[in-house]
Amino acid sequence: MSHTGDDDAARRAGAILSIDLGAIAANWRGLRDAGRATGRPVDCAAVLKADAYGTGAAVVGARLAAEGCRHFFVAHIDEGIALRRILPEPPIYVLNGLLPGTEPDFVEHRLIPVLNHLGQLNVWRAAAQRFNQALDAVVHLDTGLHRLGFSAEDAQVLINERGRLRGLRLALIMSHLVASEDTSNPVNGEQLSRFRTFVRAMPGAPTSLANSSGIFLGPDFHFDLLRPGAALYGINPLPGQQNPMLPVVTLHAQILQTRRIDAFQTVGYGGAWRSARPSRIGTIALGYADGYFRNLVNRTHVHLAGHTVPVIGRISMDLVTIDVTDVPEADCQPGGLVEILGPHLTPDDLADHARTNAYEIMTALGRRYFRAYVDGYADGPADDAGEAA
Ligand SMILES: *Cc1c(COP(=O)(O)O)cnc(C)c1O
Repeated sequence: MSHTGDDDAARRAGAILSIDLGAIAANWRGLRDAGRATGRPVDCAAVLKADAYGTGAAVVGARLAAEGCRHFFVAHIDEGIALRRILPEPPIYVLNGLLPGTEPDFVEHRLIPVLNHLGQLNVWRAAAQRFNQALDAVVHLDTGLHRLGFSAEDAQVLINERGRLRGLRLALIMSHLVASEDTSNPVNGEQLSRFRTFVRAMPGAPTSLANSSGIFLGPDFHFDLLRPGAALYGINPLPGQQNPMLPVVTLHAQILQTRRIDAFQTVGYGGAWRSARPSRIGTIALGYADGYFRNLVNRTHVHLAGHTVPVIGRISMDLVTIDVTDVPEADCQPGGLVEILGPHLTPDDLADHARTNAYEIMTALGRRYFRAYVDGYADGPADDAGEAA
């Protein structure tokens, strides 16, 4: 957090989000190595949609490219265009597919549409003719998620009429898992067998099935290209088990003010919380506008100088109140920082408190935070953690 020149901006910010690029890189290496464990040449992509799950797609993309990552996925065309400015060379795949009239954008920025139905395939083939070049395409097969992708009928048409790919280069065949984090769910095996059947009928193209949790379902699910997002950013791909990934984000918010109140006083909008004893209240500089969800009230805590401190009163747009009655006054002063996310409370923990998942916590991370990029694990994986910058 000591980036010179950024110090003033950090002082002005209500909260500081620290993102460990070295940990993201180490997480990527770990997943890549899991793919290579059986000796097959499995490659590992990075999913950078939604601004790399809130961590910053441009910075993370550059860091992972330097680490050796050669395939990048985004959801929107504009995310792909922005990433192309940072990464001139590697394939960038657009998961949401080919929106009507966007073919020139895909061609200009050399983005690869993930084709989700025959109609998109027809349009892309026509574009290859119009632009007079062999265009890369991904075919996404729906194997059960029933969200995006070729239906079984569309897939059969493609199998019977391979000429529909004329003028295109099939860069990847992919599908997406319904419940990969639920290792005992039979749907995983059902999707695997549907995917295999399609892949056998369409030989020659590289294949991809596994998201973060899917990688942990084992080598049968790895195919040629792994597609992790969440696990890169430290989200636990194995819910209920110990998290094998390195933590990536920490979030600290400033204490703006502290005050003493009598017993039986209310705090915050609606008077929704009432003190049971004479209390000290701290007010900190983040709120629901920063992705600190309103439903966290009475369900979560923050950490301050070794103390676990409850969040009390309604969460405001820009402010959160905490009960610091049991914290020594010297440890709780305006200008001090409280830990919102970090070693004591991970995004997965906060997600439990908010009755959501860590994906939503991460992608809601506030735009008003000062972002400090550190590279604590740059020289090696977990055992260097003690030397984190
Ligand atoms: C988001 C996404 C991924 C990455 O999933 P994680 O669970 O975050 O690893 C992979 N593939 C597709 C199609 C996706 O939409």
